[in-house]
Amino acid sequence: MLVYKFGGASVSSASAIENLTAIVSERDGELVMVVSAFGKITNALEEVLDCWYRGSDERFTRLRTIKEYHEDIIRSFFGTCDNLVMNDFIIRTSALGDMLRESPSGDYDYDYDRLVSFGELASTRIVSACLESRGIPSFWADAREWLITDNIHREANVDFNLSARRLRNVVSEAGGRVLVTQGFIGGTVDGAATTLGREGSDYTAAIAANLLDAGSVTVWKDVPGILTADPLYYPGAEKLDEISFHEAIELSFYGAKVIHPKTIKPLQNKDIPLYVKSFADPGGTGTIIHGNAASSVLKPVLIVKKKQMLVSLTPKDFSFIVEECLSRIFAVFFRYRTKVNLIQHSAISFTICMDNCGPFVSRLLDELKEDFRVLYNDNLELVTIRHYTESIIGKHLSGRKVLVEQRSRNTVQYVVK
Ligand code: ASP
Ligand code: MG
Repeated sequence: MLVYKFGGASVSSASAIENLTAIVSERDGELVMVVSAFGKITNALEEVLDCWYRGSDERFTRLRTIKEYHEDIIRSFFGTCDNLVMNDFIIRTSALGDMLRESPSGDYDYDYDRLVSFGELASTRIVSACLESRGIPSFWADAREWLITDNIHREANVDFNLSARRLRNVVSEAGGRVLVTQGFIGGTVDGAATTLGREGSDYTAAIAANLLDAGSVTVWKDVPGILTADPLYYPGAEKLDEISFHEAIELSFYGAKVIHPKTIKPLQNKDIPLYVKSFADPGGTGTIIHGNAASSVLKPVLIVKKKQMLVSLTPKDFSFIVEECLSRIFAVFFRYRTKVNLIQHSAISFTICMDNCGPFVSRLLDELKEDFRVLYNDNLELVTIRHYTESIIGKHLSGRKVLVEQRSRNTVQYVVK
């Protein structure tokens, strides 16, 4: 059994999906395909949700744009004669429109999951039909019914035992056809949609591979593999041919965007290799992540995370920042599903570098202001260099204002303006 994961960029247009069908037709064995929402549709659905919660009618225009984007793809793939896929899509979109005409439930995270999951449900239905139309027998599976999670909406935790049983049943039902399922989404035992955190489709692929003892996972990307830096900003970036699971966890944790940080563990536990390959060059070698990568390949890797905020907290009553206080702080961050990327801490102050979580930031800060004096800086970058040398640090940091620095034996991190 092989698992392929296709992200948004690999399904952003009819020609991209045509390319996907070519890749799938070259498969060598039984295949599970995990597919993301088309292009940037998840972002667009988040904006619809935001409008809905603000009571703005703009949600309907935004939904129409999303609808037209899918319809264009369906039309260019199937022409105007095949109405089945189009009709099905229109019916489901109008059900979503009906939902948006009602008031939100008030549970934002719950509403997020039932609205945003539309992206993957739609993309996989269309992709599955595209495969069929190119003579590749496929079987569409609803991840809400096999990837069973708790009800922590937007950051759900997977029930591996229950999901294993469900997925094996789905696989036997597929009977050798290419199994097409959604990344990023799951469902509770009661049937409510859940999601696994942004960019979570890689994680879904890893879960499926783990549950099925797959031979390998291939993540098809718009880059040739894992690179030592973002080639957009650093033209000298090189591809890493192989890295260890451990190294991959570190890199993705620090913000290398190629794979989701949760992806590696389910693969490492079963020693399943992960290939990162270019969908534009399927024959290329890509990067292989596996258990016995040579440790000599520890090239310096530069990772830049943008849109960072640095928040400093000082207790108003000058109590110390100790365990009880820290757990209160982290409870607030968890409630707003904020990604904390670096912390620094003294007796009476606590500094957090975090992703700017958009519409929630002001609410999060207001809540913290109840107990703390809060100072913050926005629009920062978190620069991480793995396997650093002084000359590399000098090259990338010279002339920049450093607000926080942290060093360990292998890694140095800077929060910079
Ligand atoms: N569509 C989801 C997102 O954009 C999941 C994914 O692409 O991995 O976050
Ligand atoms: Mg995506």
